[in-house]
Amino acid sequence: MSRWDTLLTVQELDTHADQLVHRSQHLPARAALVEIEGRIAKVDADIAEVDSRLGDLSRSQQRLEDEIASLRMRAQQADKQLYSGTTNNPRELQALQDDIASIQRRISKIEDDELDVMEATEPVDAEKAVLVARRQRQDEQAQGLRVELAEAEAEIEAELAGVREQRDIAAKAVPDELWPEYDRLRAALGGIAIARLSGTTCQGCHLGLSAVEVDRIRKMSVDELVHCEECGRLLVRE
Ligand SMILES: [Zn+2]
Repeated sequence: MSRWDTLLTVQELDTHADQLVHRSQHLPARAALVEIEGRIAKVDADIAEVDSRLGDLSRSQQRLEDEIASLRMRAQQADKQLYSGTTNNPRELQALQDDIASIQRRISKIEDDELDVMEATEPVDAEKAVLVARRQRQDEQAQGLRVELAEAEAEIEAELAGVREQRDIAAKAVPDELWPEYDRLRAALGGIAIARLSGTTCQGCHLGLSAVEVDRIRKMSVDELVHCEECGRLLVRE
């Protein structure tokens, strides 16, 4: 055992913690949730578009109904005048009757237009119902994924807390002067600062060291600072 073995223990726990963080960030439920949220946004946009078309149709229908109401009022007034007895002039009476008949024809025409609008609304209503049902299913899926994700995150978080606790304990055994090199290499080399030299192979980069280098290292004390000639990591020797 060298002073580097204490640092290697810390490295193993740091690596374990890094793996847990990576696993948490790449949980399948997380990607699935992002995907479904994208689909929900798409359906919401489709619903907004259908709502806009339904709004146009509804306003058209309202305009036609208002027109019918106003024409009916005009017909009623003409009708009242016709039977009020205020005029006996046959020509005027005939004119009133003609007016009423003309208004009725216009009402009938507008009622046909309104029917057309109502018929045009039906498939759009159906389209919206399909979208709303789809949105609801997606909401349920998203909710299920959120629960799944929260559970998986909590599980990893608990494991991570345990690893960090062990790491804090292991770190106490590491001599202070080893930390700057460890922190520097860990930041520079993807989280792995120190590795075991196993035979002639660096376990950090899995490359073999040259015979000359292995020979040079063997003559040194195990406590001395040695870097892998391939990757630059600290090497722990037996
Ligand atoms: Zn190496």
